[in-house]
Amino acid sequence: MSKEKILVSACFLHEGYKYNGGANINEKIKGLAEKYEFVLICPEVFGGLSTPRLPSEIVNDKVLNSIGEDVTKSFVNGAKKALEIAKENGCKKAILKAKSPSCGKGLIYDGSFSHTIIKGDGVAAKLLMGNGITVYTEDEIDKL
Ligand code: SF4
Repeated sequence: MSKEKILVSACFLHEGYKYNGGANINEKIKGLAEKYEFVLICPEVFGGLSTPRLPSEIVNDKVLNSIGEDVTKSFVNGAKKALEIAKENGCKKAILKAKSPSCGKGLIYDGSFSHTIIKGDGVAAKLLMGNGITVYTEDEIDKL
């Protein structure tokens, strides 16, 4: 029987996606490849942002980078692309990077670039959840 497909933040597995050019390598997530077929997404790269890039945070209804440039359009376009890929692949679940302005679920940085956390969802996580996809952060993968 074929494995269930699951969306996964690409930065858990590879360099070249995270804003600073690094990665958030997660061995536990890698291990889930035994059970799931991974469909990698990086909404920020899908939205046309380069790597490395300046960090961004959500400020009210916009996404701004650390020098105040409005990158909302790229984040929204990348989120839409991630949803399109989820639909094409029939994904009902996603494992996304906690606290990211794109991928974060439930908690994000507050827009002050001071490492302060507030309640909220990243742009892509919010769109995916609004379309019936269950999102797990890397802290919740024991549920999978
Ligand atoms: Fe990782 Fe998501 Fe940020 Fe891409 S947008 S680097 S997948 S946290």
